[in-house]
Amino acid sequence: MKRWAVFLDRDGVINEEVNYLSSSESLKLLPGAAQAIRQLNGRRIPVIVVSNQAGIARGRFSEEQVQKIHDRLSALLSGEGAHIDRYYYCPHHPTEGIGPYRMDCECRKPKPGLLLKAGSEMRLDLEQSYLVGDNVTDVEAGIRAGVRSILVLTGYGESLWRSWPALFQPHHVAHDLDEAAMRELAYGILAGQEN
Ligand SMILES: [Mg+2]
Ligand SMILES: [Zn+2]
Repeated sequence: MKRWAVFLDRDGVINEEVNYLSSSESLKLLPGAAQAIRQLNGRRIPVIVVSNQAGIARGRFSEEQVQKIHDRLSALLSGEGAHIDRYYYCPHHPTEGIGPYRMDCECRKPKPGLLLKAGSEMRLDLEQSYLVGDNVTDVEAGIRAGVRSILVLTGYGESLWRSWPALFQPHHVAHDLDEAAMRELAYGILAGQEN
């Protein structure tokens, strides 16, 4: 049987949003984020990060630096007993940047490519899965991949929610990742979803 998973956008959801995070020293966990991920880990629900890293295409940072940031993020979470099961990211940009990274790819959110790739590689039941994000592009990618989307009001979420486009309604709006995770777990339990 396929498992369901929780997809997380990274910046503004797990860690503080800073425009084009390029150094692992600037990485700060948002309050409650580690606890939320630990709860999901405890229920053996795969936690998968899906993020746009167009800073690579733009030459602002390298894939190695992104790897360092993910290592640092994992270390911070590990200090609080939590872990990310897999990281997926899009290094591309459709119109800007360098070499092979400049392309109109299928993985840059709001396209659903990262979620679909994770879904097939990890054999996930996408219909029963969730995406938590702080941006319109996250919610749209979730809708296009057929997962349920939760908007959090951390990061860009709070200001975007005031003038949200009607076309991409999230299934839920939560104050932060901790509240979103509680809701996912409660819903999963009510729906009898086992992993
Ligand atoms: Mg974000
Ligand atoms: Zn891409």
